[in-house]
Amino acid sequence: MSDLSTAAADLIVLTLPDGNTREVPAGTLARDVVGSIGARLLSASVAVAVDGEVVDLMTPLRKSGAFVVITDKDPRALEVLRHSGAHILATAVRRLRPDAAIGFGPAIDDGFYYDFDVEKPFTPDDLAAFEAEMRKVVAEKYAFVREEVSLEEARARFAGDPLKMERLADFEGSDEVISVYTDGPFVDLCRGPHVPDTSYLKHFKLLSIAGAYWRGDVKRQMLQRIYATAFWKKDELETHLHQLEEAKKRDHRVLGKSLDLFFFSPVSPGAAFWTERGTVIVNELQAYLRDLQRDGYQEIRTPLLYNKSLWETSGHWGKYRENMFLVLDNETGEHDMSLKPMNCPSHYVMYASKKHSYRELPLRFNTYDVLHRNEVTGALSGLTRVRQFQQDDCHIFLMESQIADEVRQLVQFILSYYRTFGLTATLKFATRPATRIGSDDMWDQAEAALRGALEATGLPYELKEGDGAFYGPKIDFDVHDSIGRAWQLGTIQLDYAAPERFDLSYTGEDNSAHRPVIIHRAVSGSFERFTAILIEHFAGAFPVWLAPEQIRVIPIADDYRETCEALVARFRAKGLRATVDARNETLNYRVRDGEMQKVPYMAVVGKREAEESTVALRVRHTGKKQEILSVDAFEARVLDEVRTRALTPMPVAATTTEEASA
Ligand SMILES: [Zn+2]
Ligand SMILES: [Zn+2]
Repeated sequence: MSDLSTAAADLIVLTLPDGNTREVPAGTLARDVVGSIGARLLSASVAVAVDGEVVDLMTPLRKSGAFVVITDKDPRALEVLRHSGAHILATAVRRLRPDAAIGFGPAIDDGFYYDFDVEKPFTPDDLAAFEAEMRKVVAEKYAFVREEVSLEEARARFAGDPLKMERLADFEGSDEVISVYTDGPFVDLCRGPHVPDTSYLKHFKLLSIAGAYWRGDVKRQMLQRIYATAFWKKDELETHLHQLEEAKKRDHRVLGKSLDLFFFSPVSPGAAFWTERGTVIVNELQAYLRDLQRDGYQEIRTPLLYNKSLWETSGHWGKYRENMFLVLDNETGEHDMSLKPMNCPSHYVMYASKKHSYRELPLRFNTYDVLHRNEVTGALSGLTRVRQFQQDDCHIFLMESQIADEVRQLVQFILSYYRTFGLTATLKFATRPATRIGSDDMWDQAEAALRGALEATGLPYELKEGDGAFYGPKIDFDVHDSIGRAWQLGTIQLDYAAPERFDLSYTGEDNSAHRPVIIHRAVSGSFERFTAILIEHFAGAFPVWLAPEQIRVIPIADDYRETCEALVARFRAKGLRATVDARNETLNYRVRDGEMQKVPYMAVVGKREAEESTVALRVRHTGKKQEILSVDAFEARVLDEVRTRALTPMPVAATTTEEASA
């Protein structure tokens, strides 16, 4: 990164997307370069990127490179807006609470936050006052003014801010540029980038307050973190707020408890205890995948614990060890064994245990083995960030000529699996990352093969440059749930590197040895995370085939208890999950309880039903409506829904249905 261009008569060369160049003196403001391209473009611009690095319009440009103007259509602009929102939040807080010391205020995935050191924790009333004050700061339209200052000057400016003074100590002896930004009355030590002025922040909302240790260090003081979000458009903000509200109602950690599906205990952080009801769901998901993979796949099981030689061959021992649980080997006295964090290497060992002919390919190994990854406990969250999990993992060994067909089939397989749950998906194609193994030739070949196969499906996809795995390009599947959130789930990864490392081969038609290619494939990611997504997607109201309890039979009075018990026995003999609720409670109470437990069908039996061999059927979330039908017809209906894995008894609603008042 030598500054050749600056040395050369202090001129830099900026290359525009259309190939034209602009030669300007080093130190020219980004704004002036954009203005020289066009006045309209300048008014639409939020920031610029030079060789991919986003800087704001107020930044002096010092190096040559590819120059891209960022407008609010560019996703990077949203990050700039949100980070600017953090400054505006701090501006408002400082006006109302001049004693608040300031920490950091970054943009995050769904918004931004700012940390404050205050004597007294903030209250929800404070939050409302800060938000109102922010609206004033926005209306006052303060420009974000950038200044580059010396360390001494910065220290003089932030003398009253101990946290900023601590941050400034990091600049000691470094030649990093120190920049400060001022918007109206507020000044902050910040690298940028920011929007040109405070009026850009139109659609925002302060969301919550949480405690957060200064610099994430539990030994340091607890700060008050204010979370917020912002969008370019009003409807985007509204959609997001609605999603947050829905997500709160559907939180899988809350529903997991109220529906008695799983729990966590400090005795094993990040590993779920699945109750009987939760286990039903995981087993059904696995049974479904087993059904789908009965032909053409070989289900295998491999050890959980390996000595380090396997990880040395795979490269994980060097690159990934801190994410693995190491185990003491009594014989060597060293922690040189590990629980597997992924299945791949063990499947290569399985492949290499026999000779293979080209006639066997594609050879598909699938498994549901348990994996462990050593996530820091602070990052663990419900079923979505865990230490122990099972993937629906599959490794496919095949010839290069088979890639296109295989990938086409896999894409269809994965999409149809999602459709069963009413989930839609979008595809992303990720190419070689900066840190990778293998030659450029290998990457050219792998990317061309996977991309060709993807394009042959005719489906639209998004290109993610540089987002591939370190061993090969991949197709990722983003799934959209019933409240519009996206989750990255499935993946198809092409791997030319592992067959080399593990010296895998097959005998070709020409009777000589050839290298296979490997595809890593997962459909739902892990069962843990997928179950969490399904719980939130269905708001706990699972389709009948997945529901832990499918039918609850309720006698109107104790006289019909035996009839009900006989019905349950009959349903259970057919493989249905049925129970009887003969508790000494009112009918309304029991029906309501079934609704709360999200049982799909409640079959009520009174005198007439007992005599005529019918049930008065209450379908989950349909209120007081009931339907009289014969036991035979009811049973046939449920069996059919289970067999076809139908999305019944109710379509996935966009909002949590009000509990029926039975
Ligand atoms: Zn900033
Ligand atoms: Zn793999």
